[in-house]
Amino acid sequence: MRRFSPAFMAFLFAATLPLAADSLVVKCGKLLDPATKSVRTNVTVAIDGRGVVAAAPAGAKVLDLSTYTCLPGLIDAHTHLLLQGDATSAEYDEQVLKESTPYRALRAAAAGRIALDHGFTTLRDLGTEGAGFTDVDLKKAFALGILPGPRVVTSGPAMGTTGSYPLLGFSWERKMPDGVLKCDGADDCRKAVRYQVQNGVDWIKLYADRSYYRAPDGGWASIANYTPEEIRAIVDEAHRLRKKVAAHSMTPTGHRSALAAGVDSIEHGDILDEETVKAMAARKIPYCPTITVADFVKGPRSKTNPIWDQLWTASQDSFRRAYAAGVPIAFGTDAGGFDWDKRSQAEEFSFMVLWGMTPWDAIRSATTVAAELLGPSPDGKLGCLDPGCVADLIAVSGDPLANVKILEDVKTVVAAGKIVKSPR
Ligand SMILES: [Zn+2]
Repeated sequence: MRRFSPAFMAFLFAATLPLAADSLVVKCGKLLDPATKSVRTNVTVAIDGRGVVAAAPAGAKVLDLSTYTCLPGLIDAHTHLLLQGDATSAEYDEQVLKESTPYRALRAAAAGRIALDHGFTTLRDLGTEGAGFTDVDLKKAFALGILPGPRVVTSGPAMGTTGSYPLLGFSWERKMPDGVLKCDGADDCRKAVRYQVQNGVDWIKLYADRSYYRAPDGGWASIANYTPEEIRAIVDEAHRLRKKVAAHSMTPTGHRSALAAGVDSIEHGDILDEETVKAMAARKIPYCPTITVADFVKGPRSKTNPIWDQLWTASQDSFRRAYAAGVPIAFGTDAGGFDWDKRSQAEEFSFMVLWGMTPWDAIRSATTVAAELLGPSPDGKLGCLDPGCVADLIAVSGDPLANVKILEDVKTVVAAGKIVKSPR
């Protein structure tokens, strides 16, 4: 057997350990504090290991951002790392049918790197679309520093019912893969939640409705995917196992079903009527508007079904209604529904401001509000830069409060205490 020198063996051993996070002193010209809506000048952020601390450790490396504006790392509370754009159902089917799970995992790893470059240091990933629990593996690889990527809050394959979710429309003789984990009946749905938790998910994601349509009276409706017993069983079992539930829900049919069952967030919420907004505001149930994906799919999908253009128009009123009523709006883009490498998740800020939100509140939605929805991470509080918060920080050039588009050009990213994008 060939012998190696002790120095070489020590090098090999060190190379197999996760990268140690840096001790850092970050000097920010300006710092936006979303929790207090205040702008501070000439602020030093001290980082020891993975977290923000009160005082700089001795010998810490200095990151000079004195000509930049710093913010906490951004949170996108609705993504799909395992998807690479599906404006049409054909594009969705192609990925699920023709791409192996290992290939999809490689593309997802690249997507994670893109998100990080765009300043998104935490993602709540809401469904792997037929790729099982690959998100749990990605989360681990990113957290250990095996690959550069954001902190991931997982939900595995997400949940639907028989006949409610693609792949659909193929010959009944073919056994097609499912884009979700299906359950039917209250007991089966409880078991499905347990199976998800067994495999390491952080959240339960369910699809509350489908097949959106205009009722004869002009109102909006859809098909509720679950019976009241089924959806209650899912939410009850998830809460019993200390997991929160995110519900895809587009129209009041879905909202009534999901809110009655006690879900913790409404995803998309394109049609939020007065009754829904009142209920969500009273119970402080957040919604993720996912405007960027709606903009992305409305053109291609409207070619075969004009409902998608109508949903786009109506969703603007829903957003304004919810904002005025004080419904917590958590930043969520549905990235993966659009191609990670063609559009930036940060476009969502401009849509929110265009639809009437203040820049401060748009920034809060991707920090303070999303952090409240997710709860603390094992390594600290999210969406802030005080001692005890995770060491996730971004820097931009200029004032995003004057122009939120600046957030589409993030210059520097520190994630979990490591500089992953340097000033340029
Ligand atoms: Zn989604």
